Amino acid sequence: MTKTETRNDRLQAAHDKLQQAVAEIASGDDWKRMLQVVSKFHRYSFNNHLMIFLQRPDATVVAGFNRWKSLGRFVKKGEKGIAIFAPCKYKTKIEDDNGDEKSVQQIRGFRVVHVFDISQTEGDELPDLEAVRPQLLDGEAPEGIWDALADQAASIGYEVVREQRGKENGYCDFLNKRIAVRPDVSTAQGVKTLIHELGHALLHADGPVRSREVAEVEVESVAYIVCHALGLDSGDYSFPYVARWAEGSTDLVKETAERSIVCAKQILEGLQPETSNDSGMEAKAS
Ligand SMILES: [Zn+2]
Repeated sequence: MTKTETRNDRLQAAHDKLQQAVAEIASGDDWKRMLQVVSKFHRYSFNNHLMIFLQRPDATVVAGFNRWKSLGRFVKKGEKGIAIFAPCKYKTKIEDDNGDEKSVQQIRGFRVVHVFDISQTEGDELPDLEAVRPQLLDGEAPEGIWDALADQAASIGYEVVREQRGKENGYCDFLNKRIAVRPDVSTAQGVKTLIHELGHALLHADGPVRSREVAEVEVESVAYIVCHALGLDSGDYSFPYVARWAEGSTDLVKETAERSIVCAKQILEGLQPETSNDSGMEAKAS
């Protein structure tokens, strides 16, 4: 028990560090500048977030063709749009209490429109987003970790491949039970991405996801905690990634702490089966 408690404390301490880092990022000038750019982007409804997530799980910044154009970016040839619903708005005139006519907007149904992720566009950089952009890790992962993580993914039915899709570092395909990690990164980055995608497979394959934001905060927190426990510092990537998906809210990072820590613990115990038999690890779905 003592061993488990100590481990829990260590995982909690790693999560505390993450919360603190997110708070620091969210109080900085770079963050404020980024928010000014982000505010130019449309806020999507929960249903549309879900539709974007289902069609393009690793989309980061999404906008319509013309909004991209106004930011100096153009949709690349052959890119397929992400279908979302847009309300059909009509202006009608109604009489107010004083009998005066006024014009109001009414929503009558929805139509399908297409938006594009930033990775599907090219053109001017969004300089202010760059300041708090996750930095790819360089360096080596501890030996044997990749294989052990891939085995763990296989134990819940997922095949792990090295493959690049767009600019994504990786993706988790729930339907075909496939985890992909782009091949052209350092072993440290590859392992971190694999943990992130394994986190999606463990936490998000079966149940409804509260939102894309929550899902990404949860699994990158998992990645940070597991990497930390393995002696790999993924802060340069994980801190800004979590800060951005949490929109600077340390409350959201705190709220998701328990699920993230439990999942991180499950992954770590899966890497050390000989020390996990007395820790009450939850049964894995197969
Ligand atoms: Zn993700």
